[in-house]
Amino acid sequence: MTGRRKPEKGRNPVDLEDRRTKHLVSTPAKLTTCPRCKTPVLVALDEGLRAVVDLAAIPPAEEIRALLSGRKTYTRLQCGELVYREPDRIRGGLLKGDLHQQHTCQRKTRPAQLELWSN
Ligand SMILES: [Zn+2]
Repeated sequence: MTGRRKPEKGRNPVDLEDRRTKHLVSTPAKLTTCPRCKTPVLVALDEGLRAVVDLAAIPPAEEIRALLSGRKTYTRLQCGELVYREPDRIRGGLLKGDLHQQHTCQRKTRPAQLELWSN
């Protein structure tokens, strides 16, 4: 055995290529609400990774504030897809579209615990 995988028989090579590239799919952003805080957000797949951003676009000057607070930023292209703004893409300045910051929930995850016993 050489460790090489046998080619799959009876499969169309086009189908195999399609399966390999589906994990990097990008989809147009859809408007929905965050299930926790009920804030309107945009949700999309960006190169196979789920992106959830605030609906309101931010001005370019606000991007550094978002990055310093630990949020990712995305460009919403004219086709509706969200593209993660990694440092090289920010530096290149070639992405054209609205800027959106990653959604971070402000709602607390647990309600306050009730006091069941009193002394
Ligand atoms: Zn939320």
